[in-house]
Amino acid sequence: MRTVQLLLFASRALGRSNPGSAETCGLRPSTPFDSGPVCFPGPEYLSGQCQNGGDCASPRPHAWTRSSPCFQSAESEDRFCVFTDAAFADGRGISLVTTAQRANHVATAPAFTNPELTKHLNQDLVQTVPARHEVREIPGKGMGVVATAPIPRGALILANTASILVDYRAYHTLPTAHYTDLQTHAAAHLPPAHRAALLNLSSHNPRTNPPADPADISGILATNIFDIDFDTDIDIDIDIDLDLDPEDEEKEEESPTFAALFPAIARLNHACRPNADYRFDHAALAQSVRAARDIVPGEEITVSYIDAVRPRAARVRRLKRGWGFECDCALCVLEGGRQREADERVGLIGEVKGVLGDWAWHGAGGEGTGMAELLVGLFEMERLWTVMHEAYALAALEFNAVGERWRAVKYARLAVEWGIPMVGDEDEDVEDMRELAGDPRGHWSWMRRVRNRDALAK
Ligand SMILES: [Zn+2]
Repeated sequence: MRTVQLLLFASRALGRSNPGSAETCGLRPSTPFDSGPVCFPGPEYLSGQCQNGGDCASPRPHAWTRSSPCFQSAESEDRFCVFTDAAFADGRGISLVTTAQRANHVATAPAFTNPELTKHLNQDLVQTVPARHEVREIPGKGMGVVATAPIPRGALILANTASILVDYRAYHTLPTAHYTDLQTHAAAHLPPAHRAALLNLSSHNPRTNPPADPADISGILATNIFDIDFDTDIDIDIDIDLDLDPEDEEKEEESPTFAALFPAIARLNHACRPNADYRFDHAALAQSVRAARDIVPGEEITVSYIDAVRPRAARVRRLKRGWGFECDCALCVLEGGRQREADERVGLIGEVKGVLGDWAWHGAGGEGTGMAELLVGLFEMERLWTVMHEAYALAALEFNAVGERWRAVKYARLAVEWGIPMVGDEDEDVEDMRELAGDPRGHWSWMRRVRNRDALAK
């Protein structure tokens, strides 16, 4: 791949061309702010059309409008460039920092060709429906998002297509100066209003006023990014070797593909027991935030930046290390006995989940169903609204596994009802619960514990 690119590079006259004119193919040199539409030799994307340096028409309605600068990794064959599509999502734009191969894979996402998918997202720049929230100064926290009208559980609060996606391999294999430069260009290539929204975000670093220097962009990204994993929906070779501390219990750090910036969503502050949650839609390349419970006007809308079902000390440590603040959310400021109770509940949740998840365990004498109801109660006491569906699902399986089908159906229905807004209608656990609710006796869990007991008795 790299050889082909270098040949193309050497064989072409490297002039600027205007966006929208007939494109020519070939990679451009790493000069800042070099512009012009460029095609790449990627088999899935170009199907031979643009290879060997021939002139080509854009293979889809809008191709990358800019694709520079580039930096060659000293550690691998990878060459990282900035890929911008200024026309993405009705002119909002999107910039990627990645290799040509990955950029072309990402470009296969339906959002690039189906404007319907992104039409009503991004209300932060072009508002078409009345907002039920506003960005406001929160005492002691900087800016935050506050409800201005009642928001019912499950309602969509905010949605953004990705503004910037940075390939994690760039962070791991390029020198800081190079990926900083790429990130600066990724922001600079976006349309002006979009770029201004990014530059307005908060950063751990002290800021200068626009035009911001490269350190500002990096600070803004470091402070506001979400990890996005592309391996399930878009088939990209994941070849990241993260040096993870074996002690590290963070699920979030397993192997994200991209760091992504969603400016409106980045305004949401953290709470260990949040009232909203976010999820990524691969088809739309969009992150959406929904209410995990009913939210009343005047309430701050919060999400959790971490897996917060862990003791206070671990939560505080993780947030300090990852985001640089001391958590002072309602849960973290509980004192004395109540703090101890909360930590003990978290410990018990882990223990109960461990037992119920073990299908080799036989759970004699209603022990399993008792634990399942305890789990639901613990989730309620801990106000874990964003993951209530998990407790309901475990309870549904447990009741079904001992043949108590009506209670199994009740919990399965609750799991579906609470799961849809948080993880989506097509989530496989939601689908599994829908099947259980519809036909408990036909479900894989039916009488599962009883069969275990019978097998033991033989
Ligand atoms: Zn907290």
